[in-house]
Amino acid sequence: MAARILIAEDHPASLELLRYLLSANGYEILSAEDGEAALDLARHHTPDLIICDLQMPKKNGYEVVGQLKREPALAAIPVVAVTAFSMIGDREQVLAAGFDGYLSKPIEPEEFVASIEQYLPPSLRQQHGGR
Ligand code: MN
Repeated sequence: MAARILIAEDHPASLELLRYLLSANGYEILSAEDGEAALDLARHHTPDLIICDLQMPKKNGYEVVGQLKREPALAAIPVVAVTAFSMIGDREQVLAAGFDGYLSKPIEPEEFVASIEQYLPPSLRQQHGGR
């Protein structure tokens, strides 16, 4: 079974790039373009990993991760922020908000999948572990 990854990203081109890179590597992808839709999908499909933009309509990434970490059925899912923010201090703010990790845009296609797979248990990685 391929790991199921939820991508929450309101920018269509960014969403499509992430979806392409991960699905080309064998992952099952769910996607949401706002924070409320992301929470709905997480509750109904219990993904193995969530990739979450910070600036999104309805609920931003900070609100989404805060809610996920308050729900016992969802709190253990790793949530990785992917954002264009690059100011000093953002990383600490993101981790303090409850995210399990942080990747900066622009996405580097050659490195992205390996970076994301660090947040999956080895047995769920398609390329860089498990077998
Ligand atoms: Mn955004």
